[in-house]
Amino acid sequence: MAFVIAPPSAPAVAVAGSDDLFPVHRVYCVGRNYADHAREMGHDPDREAPFFFQKSPDNLLPSGPEDDAAFPYPPKSENVHHEIELVAALSGGGTDIAPAKALDLVWGYGVGLDMTRRDLQGEAKKAGRPWDSGKAFENSAPIGPIHPVTATGHPSEGRVWLDVNGETRQDGNINQLIWSLPEIIAHLSGLFELKGGDLIFTGTPAGVGAVERGDVLEGGVEGIGEIKIKVT
Ligand code: MN
Repeated sequence: MAFVIAPPSAPAVAVAGSDDLFPVHRVYCVGRNYADHAREMGHDPDREAPFFFQKSPDNLLPSGPEDDAAFPYPPKSENVHHEIELVAALSGGGTDIAPAKALDLVWGYGVGLDMTRRDLQGEAKKAGRPWDSGKAFENSAPIGPIHPVTATGHPSEGRVWLDVNGETRQDGNINQLIWSLPEIIAHLSGLFELKGGDLIFTGTPAGVGAVERGDVLEGGVEGIGEIKIKVT
């Protein structure tokens, strides 16, 4: 047997401090997981169960603190927003995972950007349509290297921040997550079968905003790592 066309390459993310790669199965994202961000998007953070959407693994744009990876301004949008997020990388999965067991499945952590065509997402919300065109487009998930848990432990607090052209736009702390990572994994695994290779973007703090061509975005999560991209 042979593939009838050339098979696409397997998506993967660099592992910090080594030549190894973390292979990616799925990319899950949590919506509105910081109260201040939920409020800035016009929602009541106290009354919502966690909800999820996915990006395609080939939407990932590998970057690093010094790489200055190019993020091409995407088509069909005039309002592309940055969302800086802590990302968890799973080594294993399953279904109906108990919160107490959830962190055993985390291989490492990284820093990602959930880039969003906010105008297309807004139109989709209004029409009751899926978010895919707003969220899951080419290069919409810049991500820095994955840092193994053996190096970072499981962070429960730490500044999460994003500067645009040297000016701080987002400045939160992962201790402000409405749904903690164990709770996210428990909820997600009730809906989907999680697997090793899954990435979870855990949500963004307040301060999301539009980017322009030429902007340099630098951000990070204290104790985990940093990311830097340039909008081209
Ligand atoms: Mn997000």
